[in-house]
Amino acid sequence: MTADPDRSLGSRPETIQHHSVIIVGGGPGGLGVAATLEGWHPYFKGDFEFPVPEVQELAEQFRDCPLELDQHRVLQAGLRPIEFYRMRHHPVQEALPLDEWTLGFTRRSRVDWKLLSLDRPGGLWNNVPREQLTLGPAHWMELAQYPVQQFYADTGRDSDPNALIHKNDIVPYYHAFAEKLDLNRRIQTGAEVTCIRPLSEDAGPRFLIEAETDAGRQWYTCDFVVFAVGPKSSPRHLSADGTDQPYVQFNYNHSDDLPGDRVMVVGGGRSADWAATECHDAGKTVVYVMRQTPDPHLKLINESQHLPYYRRLAQILSEDQERLGLLYGSEVKEFRPDGNVLIGTPEGDVEVQVDHVIVEIGGEPDYSLLQGFQPLTLVPKRDNFRFQVMQMQTDQATFESVDVSGLYPAGYLSQGTGLSVIGFHCGAYLIAGDILRRLGYFNTAALMNEA
Ligand SMILES: Cc1cc2nc3c(=O)[nH]c(=O)nc-3n(C[C@H](O)[C@H](O)[C@H](O)COP(=O)(O)OP(=O)(O)OC[C@H]3O[C@@H](n4cnc5c(N)ncnc54)[C@H](O)[C@@H]3O)c2cc1C
Repeated sequence: MTADPDRSLGSRPETIQHHSVIIVGGGPGGLGVAATLEGWHPYFKGDFEFPVPEVQELAEQFRDCPLELDQHRVLQAGLRPIEFYRMRHHPVQEALPLDEWTLGFTRRSRVDWKLLSLDRPGGLWNNVPREQLTLGPAHWMELAQYPVQQFYADTGRDSDPNALIHKNDIVPYYHAFAEKLDLNRRIQTGAEVTCIRPLSEDAGPRFLIEAETDAGRQWYTCDFVVFAVGPKSSPRHLSADGTDQPYVQFNYNHSDDLPGDRVMVVGGGRSADWAATECHDAGKTVVYVMRQTPDPHLKLINESQHLPYYRRLAQILSEDQERLGLLYGSEVKEFRPDGNVLIGTPEGDVEVQVDHVIVEIGGEPDYSLLQGFQPLTLVPKRDNFRFQVMQMQTDQATFESVDVSGLYPAGYLSQGTGLSVIGFHCGAYLIAGDILRRLGYFNTAALMNEA
């Protein structure tokens, strides 16, 4: 586990920046930790109730600074620490009016953190299709330090926090979050972390991070890494010949970008469903190819009928339409230069002539960035929204990896996020609280509120 920084780097670079904490990834997972380390700390207010009397007592005792509470005590008392925070942020399904929140925030002094990310604040939402809607209500997507209702009010949006939120609103929300909480000074976008390696466990910084930035290659050392690269940072590989043909694209934005009429969609999950539905409704002829059999796909469609875009897909499939052909149990074998695509189907090979191919086969967290550590213990996660990811096994009171001291997976990457769409934001308090404790923050005058 120990590496010499000079040897790790080959030759010593001119500068190595050191920070106490480096957050890799500026999606909602990374941003929540950043805001908390910046000093935006939660407190509990008004009347609130926890289902476990011992937890209620602890919450009362630490109501001014719950981050100071060692969450192992909550765990021992029988409540999952992520629930401890979720119950205050999302006590009910519907958005609570802001004056009924029992969670508030105060500004205390910051610790030394930096965030490195390829994308701007908001993570993958910056790159989703132009008209993308969420799977759940707007307020489920919020980071509590800046409620989405407040964002709507501040920006003159007459929108319902209980309604789905459009890309045009959620991306500005995350951008406004970073701006409002004064995070941008410590966020470096356009930075691709290429490697995270261990240094000494006994003395000096624990981690060495290498990144490609606009200014060239940079090195950083830090004591804590928050690993928030998101659930899709390593795209899945399509094993077919000719994936580099110019008519094959891996990032769907909008049907307007596709001048031709014949579109093939390869996938079978929610992103592929979105592209197939939108292209069909734009008047294209769509061939939709997926490896799965009809049953799981139709189950996903049936179970998603609360979403307008899935009601539309079900309607298209129930109509006697001729512009959407589904090839189940099928696999693309070759994309040919003339636009002919060879597909293996249960009935044998077929060839289809197309103008465009959209590949939407998802991805997985890029754990390969972590090099030289002992193997990570990963556990499979699936939720009711058919969200699937391999999560890092963590201490459930802190979300620190059980394998690597000082490494904290954020967002969905930690085991135990609960129902992913509303639970994972609260992991930020577990992570930041633990880091602050280990930095000795609560023993210092740092708790003084900032003027
Ligand atoms: C179409 C779609 C719809 C979805 N709908 C919902 C929904 O309704 N509700 C919900 O809760 N979730 C939904 N999700 C899941 C989505 O993953 C989360 O909403 C959220 O974006 C996850 O946050 P994150 O911070 O963990 O990861 P991400 O948002 O993926 O952010 C990770 C960030 O890390 C950066 N990064 C990755 N690798 C590196 C690297 N090597 N170096 C530097 N930076 C790196 C990326 O640039 C990215 O900005 C949806 C996802 C998709 C694709």
